[in-house]
Amino acid sequence: MELAKRVKTLTPSSTLAISAKAKELKQQGHDVIGLGVGEPDFNTPGYILNAANNAMQNGMTKYTPSGGILELKQAISNKLTKDNGLEYKNDQIIVTTGAKHALYTLFQVLLNNNDEVIVPAPYWVSYPEQIKLAGGSPVYVNALEENEFKLTPAELEASITSKTKAVIINSPSNPTGMMYNKEELEKLGEVCLKHNILIVSDEIYEKLIYTNDEHVSIASLSKELKEQTIVINGLSKSHAMTGWRIGYAAGPKSIIKAMTNLASHSTSNPTSISQYAALAAYETENDSMEEMKEAFNERLNRFYDLINEIPGISCVKPKGAFYLFPNVQKAAADNGYSNVDDWVTALLEEEKVALIPGSGFGAPNNVRLSYATSIEILEEAAKRIKRFVLNHQ
Ligand code: PLP
Repeated sequence: MELAKRVKTLTPSSTLAISAKAKELKQQGHDVIGLGVGEPDFNTPGYILNAANNAMQNGMTKYTPSGGILELKQAISNKLTKDNGLEYKNDQIIVTTGAKHALYTLFQVLLNNNDEVIVPAPYWVSYPEQIKLAGGSPVYVNALEENEFKLTPAELEASITSKTKAVIINSPSNPTGMMYNKEELEKLGEVCLKHNILIVSDEIYEKLIYTNDEHVSIASLSKELKEQTIVINGLSKSHAMTGWRIGYAAGPKSIIKAMTNLASHSTSNPTSISQYAALAAYETENDSMEEMKEAFNERLNRFYDLINEIPGISCVKPKGAFYLFPNVQKAAADNGYSNVDDWVTALLEEEKVALIPGSGFGAPNNVRLSYATSIEILEEAAKRIKRFVLNHQ
């Protein structure tokens, strides 16, 4: 059967091939270490589980308004004020089935055919595909490793054309863990205002920052920037709630209204029970997430040191999220591989460590390693990668 053109151009997730191979090796009885995961290895805290249970017992198992229950919108509004210095009314917020669906819906309501969206590379794999599915064209701009993978205002400006509709700012970033400071965001914001382009600010890793740097939402920098920005966030990473599928967007009323209309014909509403769980997550003071963050921080420091000491591998130290994104091009070349993808496949076959090649993130010299796993496993993974590199020199 002939499928629609729009899905024919979809690129399969870059994690897929490696994950399939890793699974196959596991089934054959091999001791495979998978560093591909994009979610916390902690369970959702108990008080959130209890809230979900109560919601179920109390009959909160029905359709809700498409844009989310009012109490949750209010809790999100309070969170945005408290954490980000942003004031949004309830009709400027939509609760979605994960941040991923907030982005998907946003691109659907924003883009006409061939509208361009600037995607700084390295990027999260779903941005380009979602833009293409909405008929738009992703325009990639390489943010240099020498500049900690940060897009400069000059690079941004040079990539703007008459078709540019929006730019994505993802800070802290998946896959690099870099984050922009206030001054950098101000300068990028100036360029966006000058050329009247929207800013899609994906702040999903906001709560996972391991330095003293403060997370700044670009929308908070001025009234003009707030009107030009759609903030995307969610609870998947901040509250170890990836499976519950709760995210949200906040921005201009007209955009949120269009998104809500579209959601009413696609998802109907995010899962009712998850919404009550998210409400409890935002309304309860609890430090279990601090413990998760401390664990990530400890793993980051240990793993970063171990990976960085391997010959031919160099890594910009991430400030947030839970990934390392080292450049392994030299190690791959020294090991006799002409590209990093082949090196990654050989590493999996020989040492049974699964990493994700950077090619899927628009950075073919790098690999992404998630440290959302125990220190012991990370130490073993680093040992195997080092052994592979040294054995092949
Ligand atoms: N944005 C980024 C940068 C991500 O890494 C992810 C998840 O991996 C998401 C958005 C989507 O998160 P969710 O749909 O689970 O809320």
